Amino acid sequence: MNSLPVRYAVVGNPISQSKSPLIHSMFAQQTGERIAYAALLATQDEFDGLVGEYFRAGGGGLNITLPFKRSAWSMCRHLSPNAARSKAVNTLYLREDELAGANTDGIGLVRDIRGNLGIDIGGRRILLLGAGGAMRGVIPALKEQAPASMTVWNRTVERAAELARDFGGDLTAAGIDDLHGKQFDLIINGTSGSLQGRLPKVDASWLAPGCCCYDMVYAEEDTVFVRWARDAGAAAAADGLGMLVEQAAESFRIWRGVTPDTEPVIRRLRN
Ligand code: NAP
Repeated sequence: MNSLPVRYAVVGNPISQSKSPLIHSMFAQQTGERIAYAALLATQDEFDGLVGEYFRAGGGGLNITLPFKRSAWSMCRHLSPNAARSKAVNTLYLREDELAGANTDGIGLVRDIRGNLGIDIGGRRILLLGAGGAMRGVIPALKEQAPASMTVWNRTVERAAELARDFGGDLTAAGIDDLHGKQFDLIINGTSGSLQGRLPKVDASWLAPGCCCYDMVYAEEDTVFVRWARDAGAAAAADGLGMLVEQAAESFRIWRGVTPDTEPVIRRLRN
């Protein structure tokens, strides 16, 4: 008799728009792994209890999305180096019956930018727009690529300053005035405004020749940031669909020990 599939899920608020169940079911089909993957809605008050109950009931692992990545980090007994540095967890599992957390957003972003899009990160001047949980999660992986510099701008200035403090000399916080006359080779948008069609403060003069732009947000149509980047003359402009699939693949590898092929999944979601 076949055993039941191992249960996984993504927890967030909102959650109905999540593509993670579809992505993981495609990974499972492709690799032959027997899993069931659901989407769970939680409030902040419910979050800790839901996670505890999920694992007590035999769940195999959870993905964590907005706004719970910091809460998940604070619950973990074991943390991957990237999760520890970024204070944000998007992948939970049990290690010797204790809660363990990893952050696969940074690996996902780097694999998409370098591997799928063929854009170099090493030696580049990077401008990061936004200082939320997603930006926090990707900074350690970007740093490992040895960029020439990393500058962060955020609408709420104090949050960018806090990020720069947390990451020491690896990151400089900048206000709009500080960016005057500066140029960058890679601009990454991690603000959630794109979801509502809102562009963060951006200026075409920041694009150095050959500059590439990347929006962590993804949508059926080009995001407002991707459209702006093309109009501003970026050499390449991409949204975050590839990152979404790549970070999911790394979670799948952590849970199942098998790395799925992301290319057909990205292609199918694009279509
Ligand atoms: P978050 O913690 O809520 O942070 C949101 C960020 O967006 C903050 O920096 C916020 O600035 C900024 N922001 C929101 N509205 C803005 C506006 N109108 N103008 C300028 N800045 C604005 O969210 P998060 O977890 O970092 O996620 C950010 C985005 O990344 C989300 O849209 C999420 O879907 C996307 N994401 C994608 C992937 C992927 O795999 N592709 C993975 C993770 C996240 P303030 O600090 O001033 O509020």
